[in-house]
Amino acid sequence: MAYRLSKSRFVAGWLCPNELWWRVHEPDAPELVPDVSLQDRLNQGNEVGELACTYVPGGVLIDLPHTAVDERLAKTREALNSNAAAIYEASFLEDDVFVAVDILERTDRGFNMIEVKSSTRVKDEHLPDAAIQTHVLRKSGLDLHRSEIMYLNTECRYPDLSNLFTRADVTEQIEPLLPDVPDQIAQQMELINGPEPEIAVGQQCFGRRECPFLGRCWPDMTGAHVGSLSGVGLKKTWELMQRGYHSIHDLTPDVKIPRAAERQVRAVRKDKMIIGPGFAEAMEQFEGPLAFLDFETVSRAIPVWDGCWPWQQAPVQFSCHVVTADGEITHCGWLAQPGQDPREELALAMIEACHGAVKVVAWYASFERSRINELIEALPYLADELNDINERLVDPHRVVKDYVYHPAFHGSFSIKKVLPALVPELDYGALEISEGGTASVELSRLLFRPDTLSAEETHKLRCDLLEYCKLDTWACVRLLEKLRELAKKPG
Ligand code: SF4
Repeated sequence: MAYRLSKSRFVAGWLCPNELWWRVHEPDAPELVPDVSLQDRLNQGNEVGELACTYVPGGVLIDLPHTAVDERLAKTREALNSNAAAIYEASFLEDDVFVAVDILERTDRGFNMIEVKSSTRVKDEHLPDAAIQTHVLRKSGLDLHRSEIMYLNTECRYPDLSNLFTRADVTEQIEPLLPDVPDQIAQQMELINGPEPEIAVGQQCFGRRECPFLGRCWPDMTGAHVGSLSGVGLKKTWELMQRGYHSIHDLTPDVKIPRAAERQVRAVRKDKMIIGPGFAEAMEQFEGPLAFLDFETVSRAIPVWDGCWPWQQAPVQFSCHVVTADGEITHCGWLAQPGQDPREELALAMIEACHGAVKVVAWYASFERSRINELIEALPYLADELNDINERLVDPHRVVKDYVYHPAFHGSFSIKKVLPALVPELDYGALEISEGGTASVELSRLLFRPDTLSAEETHKLRCDLLEYCKLDTWACVRLLEKLRELAKKPG
């Protein structure tokens, strides 16, 4: 059986032949099974797609399975011959390329092809997507006036969703790509109907959405591989590999890498923790009483609370450990209930929890600072109290990154990597929820789809989420204790 192209396959092939071949021949590959965070984004993307149709109203939906190609083509012809203002999922097949257009809008000057994206801007990879559809529509003889990408507008503020979408005319942008499309189609058709290609890693792997096959094509970049260097992305890793550097042990002094990576090189070569000069002074900022703060957030493509914009990360949970000057420790965990905007209640509880602390400690505090600034925008009457928390924020992540490296960090300063290296007796392994992406998806389920959970499931999920967030701040308490010990050590 000869394989066909689709718009998603064409884009994959435009990016990389390996990716296209595997997507066609191994559709069930483990790399292509979405994790919970990606699945949530895909689900929200589908909601965006459905809602977008209501912004180009009066259309006819080609409501058939994508495998029913002939029926879809016939239904599309029927809809084109009718006077429908728009066709949703209009289907075309030309040059062995099948495309279903998200929205085909009829205008006095011809049809507008609209590709709907749940992103908040036009991305490079959207252009071959629009180009292949434009090619197929023109080839089919359709009177195509314009090609557009319709994406989410970050200027939109709930409850006014009238400007939820921005429509960008990309006709001119894709025009230079169109002459290459027939050759691309021919090459891709030959590729997918031939043996597995052997393309080396290279420029196609970076400067784009993350390829799901990185783990298959790239060498193991843990341990002493140059790909594990902190702050050194795939592009720089590839450049180093091109220059013959594969192991951290091979790097010569003329190779320019970030400061933290330089410390990493020394630590890996000596196989021991390195602490830079000035660390003890940097630790002086953590003078108590201290509040340790951590947020968990939800992110909705289509905003649901007043003043929110698409994909805004809204805090719905926090954990706060307070350590008094004489070492007494208390904890406050707060988690929203479904059915209402929780931000005011959360802000009041957080202000109360941080009251009396000289400093508010947050690992990667710029995240907490941004969320607090957004709370100020939503709740201006609490601006003084919220600004006061922001002014007290201090960040041990910054200090570790600037002064400390342990070989077990494996190039990362995330709390999930630093904690097991410095406080090995504490870990996230035993928790039902053990990372932020899963927590965010589960929070969305709890708050926006409570009817899908039994009372028992709701109770368990709330306990798991509270435990996870609590461990984030407890980990920070224990890490700071450890860092203080290290700061006191001579030398
Ligand atoms: S990792 Fe690179 S070479 Fe491998 S499929 Fe992805 S883009 Fe292609």
